[in-house]
Amino acid sequence: MKGLYIHIPFCEHICHYCDFVKRVPKNQEMIDTYLQALRREIESYRAHFHTIETIYIGGGTPSMLSTAQLEYLLEGLKDIHPIEMTIEVNPESYHPDKGLVFKKFGINRISLGVQTFDQTLLKYLNRKHTNQQVYDVVDHLKSIGIDRISIDLIYAIPGQTIELLKEDLIHIKNLDITHVSCYSLILEEKTYFYHQYLRGKFESMDEDTEATMYQIVMDELKSQGFTHYEISNYAKQGHVSLHNLIYWTLGDYIGVGLGAHGFIRGIRTYNHHSLPKYLIEPMERNEIQDHNMLLQDELIFGLRKIEGVNLSEIREKYGIDVMMKYPQLKEKMEIGLIEIQEDHLKLTEKGIFLGNQVFMVFI
Ligand code: SF4
Repeated sequence: MKGLYIHIPFCEHICHYCDFVKRVPKNQEMIDTYLQALRREIESYRAHFHTIETIYIGGGTPSMLSTAQLEYLLEGLKDIHPIEMTIEVNPESYHPDKGLVFKKFGINRISLGVQTFDQTLLKYLNRKHTNQQVYDVVDHLKSIGIDRISIDLIYAIPGQTIELLKEDLIHIKNLDITHVSCYSLILEEKTYFYHQYLRGKFESMDEDTEATMYQIVMDELKSQGFTHYEISNYAKQGHVSLHNLIYWTLGDYIGVGLGAHGFIRGIRTYNHHSLPKYLIEPMERNEIQDHNMLLQDELIFGLRKIEGVNLSEIREKYGIDVMMKYPQLKEKMEIGLIEIQEDHLKLTEKGIFLGNQVFMVFI
């Protein structure tokens, strides 16, 4: 399976935690010029079109494009016939006309950036949408037949209480959607929160409360009928993200757009982060991945999946016994972070929260 990731690096305003490749555009011409370059880059991969099975349009905020800009971008994809085509939507910039454009061009999955339903916390994150907008977007998408809807949530936001988190999960239940991605708030460099932190004005949530919240998310989403299939991802039956599975199984994907990266036949590609440079030549560099790099990625990404890593497949593919090559895994097993079940090495429930301690073994 092959994926195509398309990056739209524009946002209406910048969230205080965000370290993605994005900017507020100076004007509409800047977006138009970018889209022209993006179409050229997409076209340069035409020889791969027939092999692409998933497309993911992320950002940034793809839904802030006008309907005309969306049509222009999606026209460039019409010779690709994926089984899954996702676009990220910010509830604030959705309009029913945009939903109809999504439908017309075969978009069949939406990733909705909600983060939390508490208006005070949303304001703290510098997000501007309302809960009514979230409900309206979901209603409209379902009414036009786009019912594969994923919602992004963030937990462990400073000031968030267990009660507020539980209220977020009640909204998830009420919205009756098919997928949830739920990440803890990470303090990233080059963000507003990081600057606040350096000035002593940002305090991360304590680890115990964060762990309790993670447990609540896992338990509640499971009780709502979601399967926990990746450390931060939950899906109703038949609704796992096929595109993201490509990343976690080290499958091939093409990455186009500012700062995007790809992975094709063992080579990682990295596009420029600077817009002027991107407009001249999208790709900054590529790197052939050697045997050890591939093995490391395969194990780290593979362990993010709840089903874990198939040890026989690793033996066949890389000619190694994982437990012998990484003897430190024995210690992680003794302290209850990993286990082997039916020939799969996997994180335990305790290990899911402390995954980084296990991943360090492979680095
Ligand atoms: S979180 Fe999303 S909407 Fe917010 S600044 Fe980052 S890319 Fe833009």
